[in-house]
Amino acid sequence: MNISPEAARRAAVAVSDLLAALSPADVAELARLIPTGPATPAGHATAAALDLINTAGQTIPAGRVSYQRPADVPEWLRLAAVETLLLHHAGQVATCLHNPSPDGPKPIQAAAWRPGVVACLACSHLLRVAGPAAYRCDACGAHADPIQDLTLALGPLLYAVGLCGRCAR
Ligand SMILES: [Zn+2]
Ligand SMILES: [Zn+2]
Repeated sequence: MNISPEAARRAAVAVSDLLAALSPADVAELARLIPTGPATPAGHATAAALDLINTAGQTIPAGRVSYQRPADVPEWLRLAAVETLLLHHAGQVATCLHNPSPDGPKPIQAAAWRPGVVACLACSHLLRVAGPAAYRCDACGAHADPIQDLTLALGPLLYAVGLCGRCAR
């Protein structure tokens, strides 16, 4: 599969909007409708889809975890994470040498300040940032010291951002 950046962006917007529109009742209904089978590829795929729907929008600020409805996650953040997942599935990101599969089962990580890079959890060094870039807010672009780390868990993806005090509130 090869998709253009424009197509990836359009697909990411669609999936992001869909996630934002899901109510808890929708999630329950989807869980009822989607058959989860034994260890077949289809079973894995539906289980992964359900997991994505259920976990979309968990944010993990330093020291605490909060479970949020996807609609409550800022749109830019939800969109960036969805787009990263889509581009990883399309094989259009650089990965660590372990080449984590978009089909799992291992969790993956990416960061707003290093677009186009997906790494396994052992390869955090690929996402390390230093210098002025380490103090740039990923939401508004402002310089901030200290910068507050936040991780959005979306399906298998841990998506890291750094936020200024105003954007972290
Ligand atoms: Zn790795
Ligand atoms: Zn900011």
